[in-house]
Amino acid sequence: MTSVQDLIVPHLRALNTYQGVDPMEVLAEQAGIAPEDVIRLNGNENPYGPSPRVVEALGKFQHYNHYPDPGQRRLREALSDYLEVDPGRIVCGNGSDELIDMLLRMFVGPGDNVLLPTPTFGMYAFNTEVVGGDPVSVPRDDNFEIDLEAVRIAVTPKTKAVFLASPNNPSGNVATEAQIQGLLETGVLVVVDEAYYEFCGESVLPMVEDYPNLVVLRTFSKWAGLAGLRLGLGVMDPAISQTMMSMKPPYNVTLPAEVGLLASLEDRPTLMSRVQAIVQERDRMMSLLQQIPGVDPWPSRANFILCGLPEGRGKEIFEGLCRRGIFLRYFGNARLQDYIRISVGLPEETDAVIAALADLVGA
Ligand SMILES: *Cc1c(COP(=O)(O)O)cnc(C)c1O
Repeated sequence: MTSVQDLIVPHLRALNTYQGVDPMEVLAEQAGIAPEDVIRLNGNENPYGPSPRVVEALGKFQHYNHYPDPGQRRLREALSDYLEVDPGRIVCGNGSDELIDMLLRMFVGPGDNVLLPTPTFGMYAFNTEVVGGDPVSVPRDDNFEIDLEAVRIAVTPKTKAVFLASPNNPSGNVATEAQIQGLLETGVLVVVDEAYYEFCGESVLPMVEDYPNLVVLRTFSKWAGLAGLRLGLGVMDPAISQTMMSMKPPYNVTLPAEVGLLASLEDRPTLMSRVQAIVQERDRMMSLLQQIPGVDPWPSRANFILCGLPEGRGKEIFEGLCRRGIFLRYFGNARLQDYIRISVGLPEETDAVIAALADLVGA
């Protein structure tokens, strides 16, 4: 008899899983401290939480017994007004992660590949492997800019897509319109993940009408503080959105998520003033980091800062911070061995990170 494991499709038997962020309680136990003393700046979460209107609307919400609308009508109408694009071009997902997954399932199969200007968001490579495709890394240059020529050379008949984040996670820089145009001219699907758009204000959304191979992703996880509700969206050519609507799980976005999205859009001034506070705090953290000898922060347009650390000391400093109850994002791959990514939190969290970092680096 064959073992049940042999029945699993081969490419999923030894998958490199995606390392998501651990809950506060787990981190507290690791550091041997109380959960309220944990400083968790490893997931680019919004330190101010959701809009109070979301909390209020969900407090009143009762219809958990109903299925959500498979056609996403209210969501797509509301987002159409917000984004000023035709509702037929919009698809909502259970986080933008689900849109990444659906795009890969639509465009990529075993034997196909996806080009990834790296370092970048880990979900692209992970989900490519889940569908049996090959993620092909095309290293960004010394300033983390996309190497357009290298991408062009890497395109083969097996290449189905290029995925990039702008601002890029973890480097924080924005891709120029010219770079994206250069990628679009290769003719493969180009997915521009604008998860941090609201922190920088630069978008290629208007290009979607001119380029049927361009998909723009957004999320309510970061600027609107709804990471736990799971709400992302994509804007794309109607030919892509129609197929995506036909193949998606019918009830992929929950009713509470819909309530959260509508209430967030009604409270944009509050949410955008928090975004401004985060941007200001990012710039304050940047100047404090610059004052620590041996620490080399990269200019960022998002709600995090990638920081170079003294050579050969990245892992040790990351672990030292964990022992003090400060959890940042460490990647540990060859290129980012001596880097750490710090999400922008509350001012007192910045101060604690700066003090601990100065202490550890100086030690
Ligand atoms: C955080 C992040 C996301 C996450 O999106 P969800 O909507 O929470 O799934 C997507 N893309 C990038 C680049 C991110 O950093």
